[in-house]
Order: sequence, then structure tokens, then C-alpha cells
Amino acid sequence: MTWGMMMNETTLTSRSELLWRDATQLIPGGVNSPVRAFRAVGGTPVFFERATGPYLFDVDGRRYVDYIGAWGPMILGHANPAVREALHRAVDGGTVFGAPTSAEVDLARLIHEIMPGLEQVRLVNSGTEATMSALRLARAHTGRDRIIKFSGCYHGHADLLLVQAGSGVATLGLPDSPGVPAGVTANTLGATFNNPDSVRQMFDQYGTSIAAVIVEPVVGNSGTIAPADGFLQFLRDITRAHGALLVFDEVMTGFRVALGGAQARYGVTPDITCLGKIVGGGVPVGAYGGAATIMQQVAPAGPMYQAGTLSGNCLATAAGIATLQALRQPGFYEHLEALGARLEAGLLKAARVAGVTVCINRVGSMLTVFFTDGPVTDWPSADRSNRTAFGQFFHDMLSRGFYLPPAQFEAWFISASHTAADIDATCEAAADAFAELKRFT
Ligand code: PMP
Repeated sequence: MTWGMMMNETTLTSRSELLWRDATQLIPGGVNSPVRAFRAVGGTPVFFERATGPYLFDVDGRRYVDYIGAWGPMILGHANPAVREALHRAVDGGTVFGAPTSAEVDLARLIHEIMPGLEQVRLVNSGTEATMSALRLARAHTGRDRIIKFSGCYHGHADLLLVQAGSGVATLGLPDSPGVPAGVTANTLGATFNNPDSVRQMFDQYGTSIAAVIVEPVVGNSGTIAPADGFLQFLRDITRAHGALLVFDEVMTGFRVALGGAQARYGVTPDITCLGKIVGGGVPVGAYGGAATIMQQVAPAGPMYQAGTLSGNCLATAAGIATLQALRQPGFYEHLEALGARLEAGLLKAARVAGVTVCINRVGSMLTVFFTDGPVTDWPSADRSNRTAFGQFFHDMLSRGFYLPPAQFEAWFISASHTAADIDATCEAAADAFAELKRFT
């Protein structure tokens, strides 16, 4: 009997397992984005049917408290009434015209009011498109080719950014994926987050040919890592001194770590900002923007070509506007901060009582429990985490009804719809999960 024959309906116990069998036949790896496949934690993924507020409901009728928030966008919680209503209205009026709309102007104005550094903004359809376009713009504006990125920062899957440069070493970029020609990444230089020397070395060596430094101002893609005091200002100063542009990839941090993003939280204004996730309120969207003098390079105002059939469509603008308006309500971020602090304190206590060593990094409503003694300040220190321990913790929490990101090096996201009771229940479950972990290690 083959394995395929054994995997029949009688041996599979849940609808998720049945769907997974079909998904792996029809979709590469069974998923439409790799991290969903549970490869970093083992086991098979849960399939979901619906979500409301902070809760996800799977196809077998189980409820989970959600800590991925669709990987960032769902800061208001799922199926938020104001966003739903805006989307219903947009659907009724036609979803896309391929011609200008007033909602595009409204959203651009809202973004500009919230992030004044974005004097002009161009809407695209994903974070990947935003960073790819922003770097083309930086190159067009400066007439230079090289860019610096930091190891452990993810900026989407455009060829030139699929580079994880060696830790702490000034190396020329080598592609992370087959299919990316070495020539495309040859101009991508690697540096280490929170390490000014690694950036200085690059500018000493290649200063006149560096178009831009791109950075997640709070790293989310190595797990949550805050910038050290003065690090972002250092990047601002060194780029300015060398005539290079500073690009903040705020796809994750924009409207998340503060209403005005990391640039507001840390008081450093980049030349170009990339946005995604929250700015579309759960509908595919991205954006990039900056000073008008730079944005005037973008076609048709200028020669740098960038376009999109669905860019600025009525669903994206409706969900984006409804979301940003809700975020402007007084006290919104104080509430999120309080929820984040409660979760951090509860998890720390749970780990301490169980005798499990963890390092918890948190910036507002982004948080990561690293299974290491820390401190975690960059990719090499994050990489010391015990992935096996995380995997066990993850599955234990999943079985108790708490959906964490299925990988150690990801941020957990809290939404404004999480209640104090949800957070406390999470910490109680974590106390048991940590205790189980301790028993088997
Ligand atoms: N930049 C950052 C900081 C991200 O976290 C992501 C996605 N997680 C991207 C860019 C790419 O965005 P998208 O998946 O919408 O292409």
C-alpha cells in the first residue's frame, strides 16, 4: 500500500488534514506563502474558515486567539465593522475603474497627514512592490546602483532584495534563491542591524556608488528587534553625508509601532518610506512615498517607470481609509501599548515560574519570545534561539487554542480587539506550555 493510499479519509481525522492532502497536490507546498506551511515548527497547518475580532475559527469548528493578525494588517481585529461597511459600499459601487478616483486622493491625504514625510505617495499592491519600486526610485534619483540592506531584514521577494548577507561581515551580496542571477544582487551590500561599524565600512569602501540604505526601522523579520539608541539617527546622518537616500521599510511598522510608524516613534525621517499591510486594512495594498522632489521622478511626473492595473483600486482605498480613520481615535495606541505590556509581563512571569529561559523583545504591539538568554539585538543573536523549544511551545499553545506565528523568527501581533481576558488566558496557557517544555528538556 502506498503512502498516498494510506492517507485516505478514514485515517485522516480532521477537515484540516483532508484539505492539507488536497492542497499539497494542487498548490506548491500546500500554501500560497511559505511560512504558512509550518515547516519551521513541524506538523501540518490548520485551515481556517472565518475570523472575527481577535479570534480565528478553523474548518473543524475550533476557536483560536490570533497572534498573527494576517501577519500585521489586522490591527483593528478581524472583520472590523467600519472596515466591513466601507468594503460593502465599495463592492456595490464597482471595484476598480483603471482611472482616477477621489478615494485615492483621500487616502494619499490621510497618509500625508499621519506621516508628513510622505509629501507624495504612490499606491501599489503589495509590500514587495513598494520596496522594489522605492529602490528603483532611489537609484533613479541618485544615479547610483548599490544598496545596503541588513541581514535578517526581509523586504519582500524582489530579486535584488533576496540576499541575506553574512553576519557582521562586509560582504557583497549572494542570492538566497535559485533563479536570482548573481548579477542582480551584486549591487546589494550586507550590513548588521544595530552595528554602525558594519555600515561605515560599506560607505568607506563604496560611498560614492551607494544609492540607498534600506532598513526595517524596528525589525520584525528576525523576530522583533528594536533599534539601539541613536542607530536610526546614525543611518540618517551617514546617508545624508554621502548623498545616499535612507529608505525605511515600514510595511510592518507603519501605523503599528505608533500612528506615524517608526519614524514618528524614533523621530527620524527617511527620504523614502515603504508601506503595506495596515494601510490596506486587510486588502492587498502597498505604498511608497517621500519628499516631492524625489517622488517627482516617478512616471508620469518623471522618467522612473512604475505602474499597476489594480493600484489604488476601490477595495484597497476603502479598507485603507476606514482603517486609518479608526487608528486616529484618541487613546488607540495607549490601549495597544497597555495590552502589549500586559502580555509581555505575563509571559515573562510564566517563563520565570517554569524555569524556562527566554528573551522577550517588544515594541508596542509587536512582540517575540526568543528561546535564548539574549539580548537579541541583531540576526546573529536571534539565530542563537532554540528552534526546537519554540516548535514545542508553538504546538502546545496551538493545542490550547492560541495561534502564534509558526516560526521562531517572527513578530506576534496584538490587535485592539484583544481583551485583557484574552491576554491573561494566553499567559495562563503559556505558563502550562512552558512547564511542559521544562519537563521534557
Ligand atoms: N517588508 C516587510 C518589512 C515585510 O514584513 C514584508 C512582508 N512580511 C514585506 C516587505 C513584503 O510585503 P508583501 O508580503 O505584501 O509583499
